Amino acid sequence: MTTNHELFARARQLMPGGVNSPVRAFKSVGGEPFFTARADGAWLWDVEGKRYIDYVGSWGPMIVGHNHPAVREAVERAVRDGLSFGTPCPAEITMAETIVTLVPSVDSVRMVNSGTEATMSAIRVARGATGRSKIVKFEGCYHGHGDSFLVKAGSGALTFGVPTSPGVPKAAADLTLTLPYNDLDAARALFAEHGKDIAGLIIEPVAGNMNCIPPDDGYLQALRTLCTEHGALLIFDEVMTGFRVALGGAQAHYGITPDLTCFGKIIGGGMPVGAYGGRRELMEQVAPAGPIYQAGTLSGNPVAMAAGLAMLRLIQAPGFHDDLTARTERLTDGIAAAATKRGIPFSVNRVGAMFGLFFTNQTVRSYAQATAADVAAFNRFFHGMLEHGVYLAPSAFEAGFVSSAHSDAVLDETIAAADAVFARL
Ligand code: PLP
Repeated sequence: MTTNHELFARARQLMPGGVNSPVRAFKSVGGEPFFTARADGAWLWDVEGKRYIDYVGSWGPMIVGHNHPAVREAVERAVRDGLSFGTPCPAEITMAETIVTLVPSVDSVRMVNSGTEATMSAIRVARGATGRSKIVKFEGCYHGHGDSFLVKAGSGALTFGVPTSPGVPKAAADLTLTLPYNDLDAARALFAEHGKDIAGLIIEPVAGNMNCIPPDDGYLQALRTLCTEHGALLIFDEVMTGFRVALGGAQAHYGITPDLTCFGKIIGGGMPVGAYGGRRELMEQVAPAGPIYQAGTLSGNPVAMAAGLAMLRLIQAPGFHDDLTARTERLTDGIAAAATKRGIPFSVNRVGAMFGLFFTNQTVRSYAQATAADVAAFNRFFHGMLEHGVYLAPSAFEAGFVSSAHSDAVLDETIAAADAVFARL
């Protein structure tokens, strides 16, 4: 039998850090990753045959569980007709119709191949449409790995961009202004100073890349107002929240209308897909309707569209999101109660089927609080859970995801594992 350890040793010889996306390497929690052989429902099986209850769900897409027969069969049917055409295909229209119907702020949509492409394209539209060059993002929010987004705040809220990755040119970083999440005064001050230069403000409406942090009451609406007052576009990055926190995404959950929205993950059903869309007059400026260029050899791929459409059909079942929310609540309430019983400082954030676990007794509303929580305790908890056959995201700064395949028995098994791990933490 090939072991996880042997595979990781081989992988490290061949790929940077042994992986094709950094967090998979377990660097922040320590130890070595397992290699998945197959996945089904709420579970992953590694190459050594060990089974894990999975709360990563391929980082969000697997909202109906892994290997759902309806999605798999849709892909199998699509594959019989060919893998890629390079011409328009009918499934793209059905996909666009579905998105436009489910997300009322979107009149027109362009498919791409990843969340990164969606956000990069959306800010190009914002810049092209406004004729301005600056964008605003939030400390701790992740929008993929485009140059403009690999920037976090310096010492103050109004600090100009500081590249957080070598290779991001200073000239590009200087165009990204960063703000602390959930700090409205900082946003008002930034807009007062730079408003006329800001093309767009991009935000994860529920932050899911600094663990899980919901927006304060009224915060998103206040950002909407600020953007409108200053002629900047409000861009919701719903790559994670889209079709998850509610059928219509976070914008439906909170009742906000952004100008542009970015999607990914769930709309691909597990295939590499992203999309961006918004008001018609903005999207009509995208090539070939307009002059803002953006393209993709494999965009609107028929197999990917089939997977995404099958997924989107499943999640439109009446009560799907209410049920998922109830499952997530059962999980997080159970884990929090176990922590309290064991006297462990612990708090939970949850919006729909997204959740965050923090080793602190504060309610976490900011990046500063998220980073101040006890990361070492999280790492011990992560490894303890892994030993008990529960796979949480391998970082204290990632949200967790529940799927409809997480039955009550699976959730209760997870809570029992957490209780056992807390007991010896
Ligand atoms: N935006 C958000 C909110 C994300 O969580 C991610 C990825 O996790 C991205 C964008 C980038 O998507 P991708 O990894 O598909 O490029």
